[in-house]
This record gives sequence, C-alpha cells and structure tokens, in this order.
Amino acid sequence: MRDLNEFPRVRLGVLPTRIRRMEQISRTLGVNVYIKRDDLTGIGLGGNKVRKLEFLLADARAKGAKVVFTTGGAQSNHAMLTAACANKLGMKPILLLKKRGVTACKGNRFLESLMDTEVHYIDTDDYGEIYAEMDRMGQALGLPYYKIPCGGSNALGCLGYYACAEEISQVGITFDHIICATGSGGTHAGLALGAKLLLPRSKVTGMAVDSDPFDEIVPRLMRQTAELLESDIPITSEDVHLRNMCGPGYAIPSEEGNAAVRLVAQKEGIFLDPVYTGKAFAGLIEMVKEGAFASGEKVLFVHTGGAGGLFALEA
Ligand SMILES: *Cc1c(COP(=O)(O)O)cnc(C)c1O
Repeated sequence: MRDLNEFPRVRLGVLPTRIRRMEQISRTLGVNVYIKRDDLTGIGLGGNKVRKLEFLLADARAKGAKVVFTTGGAQSNHAMLTAACANKLGMKPILLLKKRGVTACKGNRFLESLMDTEVHYIDTDDYGEIYAEMDRMGQALGLPYYKIPCGGSNALGCLGYYACAEEISQVGITFDHIICATGSGGTHAGLALGAKLLLPRSKVTGMAVDSDPFDEIVPRLMRQTAELLESDIPITSEDVHLRNMCGPGYAIPSEEGNAAVRLVAQKEGIFLDPVYTGKAFAGLIEMVKEGAFASGEKVLFVHTGGAGGLFALEA
C-alpha cells in the first residue's frame, strides 16, 4: 500500500485541526461528544474542501494548469474555497454554478465577488453537460486547464479525508463513532476508508443532506480511493452507514437542522451551517434519542465548515 506522503500535496490548510470535548453539549445530551474543527482549516472561512484541494490543486499544478474549473450550487462552499485556494496558488478559478439555492450576492456569492471571481450560471443539473461546458470554455481560452468535480469528490480529493482519519488516529483517544455530513460523498468515503484501515474500532456514519444514492456513491469512492492507495482491502456495503437527514431538500433548511445550529451556537459558541453540519448534528441528536450510543461511548463529530452559507439565509 502506498503512503500518503507519496502523493503531491500543497500545504493549504492549518492542520491538524483541533479535537475538543463539547462539554455543554455532552452534559445536555448525556453522551460524550467531541468535535473536530475542520471548520478552522485556515483558508477562506475554513471547511472540509481545503483538505481535498491540497491534493487536487497539487495535481492541477503538476499538470501545468493555469485555469481551474469547478462547479456546485449557487452557495457552494466548495466552489468558494476552490476560488480562494486557486488564487492563492496563482491559478485562475472559473466557477460554473447551478441555479440551485440562493443566487443573490450573499453568503459565498458575496465572498466570491470580494475575490473578483469569474462565475457563470449554468441552467442544468446534468454534470455531463457542465463538464462539457468547462471543456468548451477551456479550449476557447487556449490555456491549460484543470477540472475539479462537484465537491472535489473523486479519489484524489478523498485522500484529504483519508489524511483526516490519519490525524484522528494520532490523538490517543478511541472514538466509537465518527459522524460527518454527506453531501457529495468524498468526506464520508475518505473517513470510512481511513477508519477501515487505521481506526478499526470507529464506526463512521454519514448524514445524507442530499437525495443522491450515497449507498452506491460512497462505496464506489472508497474503492477508487483504495485503488489509488494501492490497497486491496475489500469494500462492502457493510462499511457504509448512512442516515437520511436531507429534510425538505438539498440546501433547503430543515427544522431539526436549524434547531441543532441554534443549540450548538448557544451551548458551545460554535456555528454550524444550515445546509450540511446543522442537519448532520441533528442526525447525531436523533441517534442519541434512539439510544444508538452506549453509555461511555465517545462520539466524534467532524465539523466540516459552511460558515459562508450561514450568511445567505434569512434569520
Ligand atoms: C461540501 C460540504 C460537506 C459535504 O462534504 P462532501 O465531501 O461533499 O460529502 C459538508 N459540510 C460542508 C460545510 C460542506 O461544504
């Protein structure tokens, strides 16, 4: 199996991120809840995409790219962070955003305008069409370009979350559960593969915040990432634990999600977001209520960021 150090990586993030016990939340819920602060990765407003971009943009740079394309919804944290990181590395970001969610110049759209980012809206949900449009635009520009998929979720991007699992394995605490939001699947896949290889006592549960078939997407990404790492560990459906927390739809806040955002803000002074981490934390609370965590078990919540999206919402 290959070592993570063999892969080209640009150091973009402030890593490792801290892990702390959430004292007030643990008391309130009656469960030991820890939080890994991947919202504090140190670029833009922080968030999980920085870890993926360390590998993706290293690849882009190695291939001589001058332009970096990516896509997502109008308030995509991934798109905003790709713009921030590509700029920092001297490559020009171009975003092809879907007209899904809040398109006004608020939240991440506002941050993109501060960075003077080139944004095109594209009126389709079909990623095939979006990637074809990137090719058309890239060829028209006549510059070497690099395409990053939605959410940075391919095998290379997943390495960022394999690396996160490696960090978790080095803190000297055994977590019985690791919880994250599942949006395009790469965070979940990287953590689940990392847990399988490095944290065999930790069960990873992804809280689905979109209605995509993650029971197929996550194991596929895990296999592709294992292949990249030249590991022949078999991945089965048993390795993937999901809970549907999408509520009324992707990027549409849910009541439970918003209640979780408020609870964590009030108890811990930590801001979750309404699209991903609020819904994911609401899933954790549901699991507590169902008795999914045995007494004394340690639960690690990975805070994947999303602060930009918080400001696109009405209060
Ligand atoms: C993208 C994102 C996620 C989901 O991560 P995926 O790897 O796309 O599943 C979770 N939280 C935040 C804040 C995000 O921006």
